[in-house]
Order: sequence, then structure tokens, then C-alpha cells
Amino acid sequence: MSVETQNKETLGFQTEVKQLLHLMIHSLYSNKEIFLRELISNASDAADKLRFEALAKPELLEGGADLKIRVSFDKDAKTVTLDDNGIGMNREDVITHLGTIAKSGTADFMKHLTGDQKKDSHLIGQFGVGFYSAFIVAEQVEVFSRRAGTSAEEGVYWSSKGEGDFEVANINKAERGTRIVLHLKSGEEEFADGWRLRNIIKKYSDHIALPIELPKEFHGEEKDKPSEAEWETVNRASALWTRPRTEVKDEEYQEFYKHVGHDFENPLAWSHNKVEGKLEYTSLLFVPGRAPFDLYQREAPKGLKLYVQRVFIMDQADEFLPLYLRFIKGVVDSNDLSLNVSREILQKDPVIDSMKSALTKRVLDMLDKLAKDKPEDYKNFWKQFGQVLKEGPAEDFANKEKIAGLLRFASTQDASGEQSVSLADYLGRVKEGQDKVYYLTGESYAQVKNSPHLEVFRKKGIEVLLLTDRIDEWLMSYLTEFDGKQFVDVARGDLDLGKLDTEEDKKAQEEIAKTKEGLVERLKTALGDEVAEVRVSHRLTDSPAILAIGEQDLGLQMRQILEASGQKVPESKPIFEINPAHPLIEKLDAEPDEDRFADLSHILFDQAALAAGDSLKDPAAYVQRLNKLLVELSA
Ligand code: ADP
Ligand code: MG
Repeated sequence: MSVETQNKETLGFQTEVKQLLHLMIHSLYSNKEIFLRELISNASDAADKLRFEALAKPELLEGGADLKIRVSFDKDAKTVTLDDNGIGMNREDVITHLGTIAKSGTADFMKHLTGDQKKDSHLIGQFGVGFYSAFIVAEQVEVFSRRAGTSAEEGVYWSSKGEGDFEVANINKAERGTRIVLHLKSGEEEFADGWRLRNIIKKYSDHIALPIELPKEFHGEEKDKPSEAEWETVNRASALWTRPRTEVKDEEYQEFYKHVGHDFENPLAWSHNKVEGKLEYTSLLFVPGRAPFDLYQREAPKGLKLYVQRVFIMDQADEFLPLYLRFIKGVVDSNDLSLNVSREILQKDPVIDSMKSALTKRVLDMLDKLAKDKPEDYKNFWKQFGQVLKEGPAEDFANKEKIAGLLRFASTQDASGEQSVSLADYLGRVKEGQDKVYYLTGESYAQVKNSPHLEVFRKKGIEVLLLTDRIDEWLMSYLTEFDGKQFVDVARGDLDLGKLDTEEDKKAQEEIAKTKEGLVERLKTALGDEVAEVRVSHRLTDSPAILAIGEQDLGLQMRQILEASGQKVPESKPIFEINPAHPLIEKLDAEPDEDRFADLSHILFDQAALAAGDSLKDPAAYVQRLNKLLVELSA
């Protein structure tokens, strides 16, 4: 196509765009028709933005408030064309929006690409495919655009073959908005067809609130271009969330989600509600199926799309949900807010607070229902978002119990090591007389599953939850009880099993402790100020000794996190517990030589630290002592 252009320049795509383009063209080939959904989704967003900006500046509409999307085609030229009269783009917009990926962390993310097409293709899902998907079917894409409010000469032209670079230039464009012309690749001519386009629009874009028009079906070969009057709307063209729940099909919710969530895959669950009464609003909330790559990035987009009486007001309105639910996507449409509501107003408005707590409950209920009705899906949810949900108890005191019910843990009862046990599961199988929920934290499942701290629990058949995410110890400092049962860290304090120990057990423990008083004193002298205390353990069956954490001290995980972030960690010393029945301890007790006794004690102490996943303060001394022993042994 020849266009009169000025100030032409050729620019290179950002590296990440090139990588994404390559990945997309190869991995979405079997699903190529989605390019139309993406371009229509953008046109719809552009209309939303215009309507919003026109609230303050009605002149932007330039007399045309009749917003719509037109899709046309030319079989001979092998083109498909989309026209919208939305907000449009200027030269700068085009260069940034159609030449770079604005999401922070993209470059890092792209480093995960392996080059293996199959492995990489699932990464697309974490991205959303967007505009660049046009290149799945087009060998060249041309964009003609003019931003609302600028003059006809400020139109802009963009063109690319989807390889390394694109061209931009200034053009004259009489109508506001964006025209996208796809020059179909050879083999993709099927898309230059009214029926095909109509079917794709019905399938993926029926929920779009604006009319999407196609040239009216015309009969006879002689006429191959419709005149101005011959367009017809092919979609339903009403906001999906305004329709009654019972009339919306699952597939419609799913396609709507892909549009609002800028996602490529189906959601796991949704909740659609109309609230009437003092506050009036409609909400449609979705749980995505996959975590975006930037879930943990502070600046990553979060929040819902806010509409006021059907008019789009803002994206990423994060005032409606707490941070630990930042992965939820969807729409809130309020009848009570004013059309000129701003972020500042949202932050101060008490109405928003009550909406926030109602929406939070909805999400928690939706997750609860997902867990009950579709345990496999919930498992997937937990893998994707469990870590984020674990921020909940600290952030949202009022819903602590509810959130706790949604948590999943690895446990001594499940050899898979997966986080699959709920607190309800746990309480459903507690031992008679057990009034606590026992847990152990540590660095990895492999490390904690064999921890000596579990020995007595294994012997008595008591289940212990195994918490090995970095956030866990911090989480447990907020989670003190569930369903009236206290949480107990099995590595902490003087383990009291309460009714789980029989009277005889207790008596036996006391008696043994008495017989070992002398040994305990000797150990205290040998270990000096390395330990806070030495005592006889009730925790052990197989190991000779163990370290327990003081009741008020920071655990290993928290200490490591604080250290890593450069903070001062309060000094704390472990409690050294010995297993009186262990042959090594018996040997130690019988050792007459004080030097050898000291060496042995230090070795046992260091070993206990290693078994707890801690590093040694003086590893060289440990090795020296151990080697000395080995030499003596073999002598
Ligand atoms: P996303 O829609 O997730 O932002 P896309 O790749 O689909 O990502 O689009 C990139 C950007 O290009 C959009 O955010 C928008 O700024 C701009 N854009 C794309 N299509 C249009 C259009 N028809 N009108 C105005 N701007 C558009
Ligand atoms: Mg898009």
C-alpha cells in the first residue's frame, strides 16, 4: 500500500519484543485465530479510554460518540482490516506501545527461555500475547492511527514485517482512532473471509461491549465491496457483567476474562455478583490459572478494572482488594461513585472500605468453593498463588481464620512432599487428647522430613506440618491458632506433649533427667556460653542430641532473612538437648577424660546444628575434632 508519509524513520524492536515475537509465532500456530480477539480487545480498551477522557474533555469525541469496531477484508489483496474510533495513538505512543514491552522484569523473565519451543511455549501464558499476535497470520502489519484531540496532520503510520524492526512516519488521517491492516501470509488467506471472521468474533469477542461490525453478507459476485450503509453488528454488544448470571455461558465468562485479564488461558474460577441496597455495584472477579511472571514485582499491575455506571474509569484500581489478593482480575461497576472519581478519592472514601471488605470475602468464598468442588484445580491454584495467599494472615487480621482454612501444607502424613494438607484435614485426624497443631519450619522439604525433631512424633504417630517456604516462619508468627487449637513449633521451647504423654511417660522422663543431672552439668561447663541451656530431651528416639530454639527467640529462617537483608539479628543461643538412651550419650557420660569429653560434646553440638540446617560458626574446628576422633578410632 502506498501512503503519503513524512518524517519516516526505521527503528529496531526492543530485544524482548523480538524474543516474544519469535516465541509467539512458533508456539501459537495451532491457535492462530486468537489474533483477532487480541486486536479487538485492544480496540475495545481504546474505546474505553476515549470515553473516560471525554468525561472531562467532551471535545475529544469530535462529534462522534458512536464508538465501534469495524472488521473488513479483501480476498484479492489478502488483507484483514480493523478500524476503531477509540483513543488512537500518536507517534510517541506507537513507538513505545508497538515497539517495546513496558512490563518491568520482562528482560529477566526472558532469560528463562530455553530455546526449546515446547518448553518455552507455556511461558507465553504468563505474558498475554496482545498486539504482536497479529504476526502469527500476517507477513506485514500496518497501523494508521490518530490520537483523539490532535489534528489530522498528526496521524501516524507504523509498519513492520515482525522481524527486527518497524517503520514509523507521519500521515494525514481524517478520522480519529486506529486502523490496523494485516497482510496475510501465504497459507492464511482463509481469514479474508466473512464467515470465518464472523465465527471467530462470535466465539471470542461476543462479550465486547461495543458493536463489532462486519460488511453485510452480500449475494452475487459482481458486488464485492459493501457501501457505507451495509454493515451489520455481529456481537451481542452489551457489557457482560450487566447480564444476569444465569444467562451467561461459561465460555463467555472465559473469553471475557481473557480480555480483562490480558491473559491467554482460561481462569480457574469466577464470581459474578450484583449488590443492591445501600451500596449498589456489580462485581465480576476471576482467579487466573497461572501466575504472571511479575507477581512478586512491586510495580507490577494489580487490581480490578473500575467502571462507574458502565463507563470505564481506571485500570488496576488496587483499592478494592488487599495486596495478598493482588492476583485476582476482574471488574467492579459502581452506581454510587462519581464519574470523576480519582485514585486519591478512592483512597479516602469510606464506601471503598466497605466494598473492599465485601469483595475480599467474595474472593475468599470463591477460593473455598474451588477447594471443595474442584480439588485438582485448587491444587493448581495453590501452586501458582499459595505463596501470595500466605501474606494474608499478616495483612488481614479480620479474615485470618478464613485464610488459614485455605492454606495447604506439606506434612509427615503425606510422603509426596506436596503442599496438600489443609488445617481441616489435620484436625480431622488428630490423636485423642491432642489439642495442638504441630509444625516444623525449615529450609527445604528434604531437610525437614528427616529432622530429629520429628522422632518422638513419629514414634507416637502424631502428624506434623512441614513448612519450608521462606515466608513460613513469618506467617506462623501471625497464625497462633486455628479452630481453637494452638499452633506449636516442635523445634521451640521445652516440648510439652500434654495429654499425649502418659503419666508413666512423664514419670520416666523425670527419673531419667535426675540420673543425668551430673552429665548435664558437665556439658554446661564444656559448651560454656555457646548454649543457653542443656537438658534431657523428650524429643528424641534415634538421634543423640538436638538443638531447640528458645521460646522467644527468632527461628533460623527469620534469622537468615534478616541477615540477608543486612539487618542486625538479635543474638540468641540454642538449647542443647540430649537423648539419654543413645549409646553415644552413654559413652559420653562414661568418659573420664575431660578433654575428650569436651571434644565429644562439641562434635555432638555441631552435629545437632547441622541436622537443624544451620551452618557452623567454626567448621574447621569441627573437622579437626572429628578427625582426631577418627584417628583414635583407627589407632
Ligand atoms: P495490552 O493490551 O495488554 O496493553 P497489547 O500488546 O495488546 O498489550 O497492546 C499494547 C498497547 O498498544 C496497548 O496497551 C495500547 O496502548 C496500544 N494499542 C494497541 N492497539 C491499540 C488501539 N487499537 N488503539 C489504541 N491503542 C492501542
Ligand atoms: Mg491487548
